[in-house]
Amino acid sequence: MGEDYKSMWMELGLDLDGHDALLNVLAQAYNDIFLSQKDRPETMSYFDFVMSEVHGLRIRELLEEKKTGRKIIGSYCVFVPEEIALAANATLIGLCSGADFATDEVEKLLPRNTCALIKSSFGFKLGKVCPYLESADMIVGENTCDGKKKSYESFKSLVDNLYIMDLPQVKSEQGRELLKNEYFRFKKAVEELTGVTITADSLKDAIRTVNAKRAAVHRLSLLRRHDPAPISGLDALLANQIFFYDNPARFTQSVNAICEELEKRVQKKDGAFPAKTVRILLSGCPQAVPNWKLPAIVEQSGAVIVGEESCVGERGCRNLTDDSGNSVDEMMEAIIDRYFKIDCAIFTPNGERIDHIKEMSKTYRADGVIHYGLQFCQPYLMEAIPVERALEKESIPCLRIETDYSMEDAGQLTTRVEAFIEQLR
Ligand code: SF4
Ligand code: SF4
Repeated sequence: MGEDYKSMWMELGLDLDGHDALLNVLAQAYNDIFLSQKDRPETMSYFDFVMSEVHGLRIRELLEEKKTGRKIIGSYCVFVPEEIALAANATLIGLCSGADFATDEVEKLLPRNTCALIKSSFGFKLGKVCPYLESADMIVGENTCDGKKKSYESFKSLVDNLYIMDLPQVKSEQGRELLKNEYFRFKKAVEELTGVTITADSLKDAIRTVNAKRAAVHRLSLLRRHDPAPISGLDALLANQIFFYDNPARFTQSVNAICEELEKRVQKKDGAFPAKTVRILLSGCPQAVPNWKLPAIVEQSGAVIVGEESCVGERGCRNLTDDSGNSVDEMMEAIIDRYFKIDCAIFTPNGERIDHIKEMSKTYRADGVIHYGLQFCQPYLMEAIPVERALEKESIPCLRIETDYSMEDAGQLTTRVEAFIEQLR
């Protein structure tokens, strides 16, 4: 990344040495994992460019937006509705939390046995290495798992613009009511932040923008049903990751361009991997940038990932919002309905998720499922067992993986994944 971004990073208060170290690791990993792949779609070059400018051009764009008075809202969860932010003329950015950073400092504030995702969000703040976090005018923390909701109590001492959103844990009438109250409270807070009142027109436009983005990702996902799979799981995951911080309209256009190329590939039976390659569905915890460890191991071991049952994947972006309402209230109800369907493991009971995994296995013609659980993540690790049992009943093999962000277990994981792929063959 060019020298001229240095002053921008300094103005944001980043620690330049730590930030350089992070970018170097990121660039190396990207090179080794993504650029070394064979037979990539040409249109992936857009995403290569986005990644090469991840802390550069996109941050410059956001700072330009801020100069015009637009506010930036950072979020850690797919329950934070982008439609509401956009309708109030704000930009919503997903905060990654996909790498270990400043672990010693983090463990002064959090117990060692906290999941890597939460530790990473603290590490990026304590290490002052995330320009997105530093650009945000509001950071939304949500009460999902116990780890997150308790950690935000400490996080509050690190940032002065944390907004806490409460979320239901049960899919009941009362649960929906709670979500409704929280989304209306969030709407008010965003309007206060931006000074912009959401109107029926602005909300409809916002719903359409986000729907278009989700529809493009769905289109991409469905193309992965084909054998040979026209795109690698790594590249598809990358598109799902960039979903969270790119400009929505540009992202939609770029994903649709990939889809057009992939449609031609499907017709010609060109694939990212040969036909009859073992097909894996990945299910479990979200994989934020630059957490590419497990998918890289799977695909370097000779299988292809054909879907992600994850918040950085289909759990997070399936289901569009009904845009037919005529008033703000009607469209808010539609937003609540759409988000209330998210089957995160924080919900109890959460049978919908198991049904969705089974459905995805069939749709994407997966030979087996790898359940990815972050160490110390109780909701997903607990749910992994009923998931495995339900899949066994359908004769779908399942491998349960529990890991973190370090590379220490890479050898052991490779051995287990290779054995699983061999079994599927
Ligand atoms: S897994 Fe749950 S807590 Fe995490 S981003 Fe998804 S919905 Fe939010
Ligand atoms: S990975 Fe699990 S423990 Fe960590 S933040 Fe997500 S739900 Fe919570």
